[in-house]
Amino acid sequence: MKIGIPRVLLYYYYYPIWRVFFEELGAEVVLSSRSSKGVLVKGLKSAVDEVCLPVKLAFGHVLDLAGKVDLIFLPRMVSVKKHEYICPKFLGLPDMIRCLRGLPPLIDVSVNLHKKKSNAYAAAQEVGKIFTGSHLKIWTAYRRALTVQKKYFRLLHLGLMPPEAIAIIEDQVKEEPLPESEDMTIALIGHPYNIYDSYISMDLIGRLRNMGAKVATAEHLKGQVVSRNATRLPKKLFWTLGQRMIGAACHYLERPEVCGMIHVAAFGCGPDSMTGELIERYARAAGKPFLNLTLDEHTGEAGVITRLEAFWDMVNWRKTTEAFGT
Ligand code: SF4
Repeated sequence: MKIGIPRVLLYYYYYPIWRVFFEELGAEVVLSSRSSKGVLVKGLKSAVDEVCLPVKLAFGHVLDLAGKVDLIFLPRMVSVKKHEYICPKFLGLPDMIRCLRGLPPLIDVSVNLHKKKSNAYAAAQEVGKIFTGSHLKIWTAYRRALTVQKKYFRLLHLGLMPPEAIAIIEDQVKEEPLPESEDMTIALIGHPYNIYDSYISMDLIGRLRNMGAKVATAEHLKGQVVSRNATRLPKKLFWTLGQRMIGAACHYLERPEVCGMIHVAAFGCGPDSMTGELIERYARAAGKPFLNLTLDEHTGEAGVITRLEAFWDMVNWRKTTEAFGT
């Protein structure tokens, strides 16, 4: 059986666990094509105008899988951590997608760890039953998938970006120690599906690296570091991704090697409008150069490049004036 996984949203966190789980159960995993203008246009034509850019792109990726697979894996992500939630758009996505015609059936199992972590295995069991009647086989597949996921997070914590870590997990490249870098560090804060999708982000990470920056993101930090720093907020945020972004921003703003911060938001994102504002205030208070980029389907590449270059000039100017004590 061929299972399609759209290369969007929480793919950047959980693709290794999903892939190993399905393969252990004997299925073949097929990914949607990389994001491109064609994929985005498909999504724009079928999604409602009100949703944010990443959800419109998700429509395009799901449509890209039509005719290529037997089932599409589109879990209803409610919560991935106790007492926290994922944005409601994730919750409604399978229902919105189901209105499209010509798609294979969806595996839209609910993932809800709000009350207890063990609900993750209940979700795995529900999916596993589609492929086998053996509980042992499902349990073994689940355990193997967790082991790979642990390795994946370890690679991210070493400083790799998700596509680089996935390439190592899939044996496309060998794992090698990261070289010591003298480059200036820029913290890039945003939802994983915005910053790591090189089409949507207009290859921000690649451009920053070409300019000579070392890029640090929230995914490079362990959960405890993020949670500890997020307690700076007077009240706990119940959105997991928003909390990750605030916690990572607060951590990086206190690091002397971090010379500037870029916050990437998606147009139409409710949580971003609040977390972005808070991050900007913290960055201004810390006196670090700060750039806020809001992406939507009309964002032009030239505008992004101009703002990025101006930001980089500011970071370098600040560095030089600090070096001369002026
Ligand atoms: S958090 Fe924002 S960008 Fe992400 S799915 Fe929700 S509305 Fe869209």
